[in-house]
Amino acid sequence: MYMDGASSKEGCGAGLLLISPTGRAGLCLKGVLYRKSYLQQRLKCVTPEKGSYVLRELHEGVCGNHVGPRVLAKKGMLSRYYWPTIFWDSAELVARCKSCQLHAPIHHAPTQEMIPLHSPWPFFQWGIDLLGPFPRAPRGYDHLVVAIDYFTKWVENVNRTILHGLKTRIESARTGWLDELPTILWVYRTTPRTATQKTPFVLTYGTEAVIPAEIGVPSSRVQYFAVQNNEEEMRLNLDLLECRREEACIRMAKYKRQVARYYNARVRHLSFKLGDLVLRRNSVSRAGGTGKLNPNWKGPYVVKEADRAGYCKLAHLNGDEVPRTWHNSNLRLFR
Ligand SMILES: [Zn+2]
Repeated sequence: MYMDGASSKEGCGAGLLLISPTGRAGLCLKGVLYRKSYLQQRLKCVTPEKGSYVLRELHEGVCGNHVGPRVLAKKGMLSRYYWPTIFWDSAELVARCKSCQLHAPIHHAPTQEMIPLHSPWPFFQWGIDLLGPFPRAPRGYDHLVVAIDYFTKWVENVNRTILHGLKTRIESARTGWLDELPTILWVYRTTPRTATQKTPFVLTYGTEAVIPAEIGVPSSRVQYFAVQNNEEEMRLNLDLLECRREEACIRMAKYKRQVARYYNARVRHLSFKLGDLVLRRNSVSRAGGTGKLNPNWKGPYVVKEADRAGYCKLAHLNGDEVPRTWHNSNLRLFR
């Protein structure tokens, strides 16, 4: 139950104690209803309309700092106001606040399921990517073209490995990145990959490469090296290479299935329909500047077309078309 002074006779002078069915005590004083609270001694009961004004002041007024719904409702009650829908009204106000929506954090959850691609045999499928820019090296090199066989690894992972290797090597070796590159590639080729449990080198040539440590501290194969025997074993390894690759292929398929299952559990399905108002991610569109104080989102725009693959065509509110198509992962619904 709630009421304000307007619906009661003024100046009755008497206090009236009201007990609600849930046991919370209220007090009617001079025609104004107060509710007993755990936070404050007494909260003035107001209508949702007056409450809405209080919430707007607390959220975006002179003393407002666009807090979330729970804190907003708490601030309302600390200011000694109460009405039964104070929390839901706070949530609604925050959800519809334009400023809060434009500065809303970027969601990182994927919006589409991962479908693992399998490559039937080595070097059947290639991924090529550009890595850089790096500090300009002698002869003007400042980018790397990374070409990687899809069977052994995904391009993004290779990029990450190369970049990490370069950063750490440059830190300790204090030389240029271009000088360190052959070493990094050797490290990559002679390190077993998690997905296949094999090194890219052995899957290509059938035999593990002899690394410098095996020469420094002779390993058994270096110690007991015999030319004749070695030739024969190398040829046998080439014959057995198909079996090794098949084994690696099965491991890779299992690994990719595990990764996809983990990834897909985090997918947040987002879809928009014609006429929806949406905001687009500012870091992608760069429509609203990229400074620290610039909003994360820009808009609203109207959805003009939406396809099943998750791409939308957008238009400004005046009907002008926004260039390019926009993927759902770079959009959020504007309320
Ligand atoms: Zn806000």
